[in-house]
Amino acid sequence: MSRPDVIVVGAGVIGLSAAIAAQSRGLSVTVLDREGPAAGASAGNAGAFAFTDILPLASPGLLKKAPKWLLDPLGPLSIPPRYALQIAPWMFRFWRACAPARVDGAIAAQTALMDLSRQALEPFLSETGTLSMLRKDGSLEVYESEAEFTASLPGWHARERHGITFRHMHAAEMAEIQPGLSPRFIRGTFMPGWLSIADPKLYVLALADRFTAEGGRIEVAEVRTLKPAADGVDLTLAGGHNRHVGQVVLAAGAFSHRIARSLGEIIPLETERGYNTTLPGDAFDLRTAVVFGGHGFVVTPLSTGVRVGGAVELGGLDLPPNFARSEAMLRKAKTFLPSLKAEGGRQWMGFRPSLPDSLPAIGRARSTDRVIYAFGHGHVGLTQSAGTAQIVADLLCKARPAIDIAPFSPQRFR
Ligand SMILES: Cc1cc2nc3c(=O)[nH]c(=O)nc-3n(C[C@H](O)[C@H](O)[C@H](O)COP(=O)(O)OP(=O)(O)OC[C@H]3O[C@@H](n4cnc5c(N)ncnc54)[C@H](O)[C@@H]3O)c2cc1C
Repeated sequence: MSRPDVIVVGAGVIGLSAAIAAQSRGLSVTVLDREGPAAGASAGNAGAFAFTDILPLASPGLLKKAPKWLLDPLGPLSIPPRYALQIAPWMFRFWRACAPARVDGAIAAQTALMDLSRQALEPFLSETGTLSMLRKDGSLEVYESEAEFTASLPGWHARERHGITFRHMHAAEMAEIQPGLSPRFIRGTFMPGWLSIADPKLYVLALADRFTAEGGRIEVAEVRTLKPAADGVDLTLAGGHNRHVGQVVLAAGAFSHRIARSLGEIIPLETERGYNTTLPGDAFDLRTAVVFGGHGFVVTPLSTGVRVGGAVELGGLDLPPNFARSEAMLRKAKTFLPSLKAEGGRQWMGFRPSLPDSLPAIGRARSTDRVIYAFGHGHVGLTQSAGTAQIVADLLCKARPAIDIAPFSPQRFR
């Protein structure tokens, strides 16, 4: 077996998209994943290409809502007491990232990556034979009071300045787009340009098939350490096997910082754990994604069912899941969509890989230019996968990326 040019660590949506982009530039690529393709967050997410989500989570708006949310242990945002001390340094950086000047910088960077990803998406889906999985059903965000709607307006103005189109509406018009909403929702905002994928897990599996059909290899192997070597990088795998390769892409999602540590780099990556329940397809006649922003969850139509999920639990990588969260969201969904059949669902928890300023880390390792980091995409990894893949392929080929990647520098927290 000949040695590949590149090893990608992680077969989630980021790793596989990057692997395919590198392959299409003529590089030979092997992907290593400790469980195989679509094992992590990429399998169970809400399937949205949320190109309009340019506002970082770290923002003054969130700081206002957080105290109320934190009071409810099953609410949209929670910190398990056992993890409160460990998450404190990350929270401090998050709080600093909420300063208005930093938020403006994050919006500009996020917009550039979103634009690149939007432009790259359809060509990437065509190239990988997955275009038929793309849906254009829009998204409807709903509000329970005029006060809640008014509080959302600065965010919409910011999106408007970046060319994002939407329509504010009252209940009657909302009912035409999505019948069956509880009358407690009196205002809404519809984004017709919102795209989604038929099912995120099937999408990643289709990318894996495409990659191997074009000659790529996917191996089940856990990477423990990376070490710069004279003409490349040495990888230590669980079980004691070593590999040597010219370049590495580290795309192990929420676990990436553990591997980066072997290169002497401390990256403040944490996880925002998210929960959902996927109900059978006939659970509700869902015509668009419905976002209950005030409650931190979304109900999404997928080809494999109706997914009710969201929430942020800052609970680290090792605590067991608390599926009472999925149940709490499902109970609310049943109230908000009264004819929803809430039985027969599958529960899931996933690790969003999150940096304190809500931007990903895309760039070279400090100790060697032969390791490229691509992780930390938080709530929008699926959305930003095609753009990230292009940047990674540029870096592997020593080409200049299409956008300025300085704001995504993995070393920006030093
Ligand atoms: C509830 C929820 C809803 C979401 N909804 C959306 C959405 O609608 N739109 C959107 O854009 N994003 C959404 N996201 C975020 C999105 O899912 C993530 O940003 C994205 O999946 C991250 O992809 P990734 O490839 O970096 O990580 P992952 O998909 O987690 O992949 C990382 C891979 O690395 C492997 N790995 C880890 N450690 C090692 C190791 N040591 N050696 C080898 N392999 C290793 C894992 O097995 C895994 O397969 C959501 C997330 C959650 C939790």
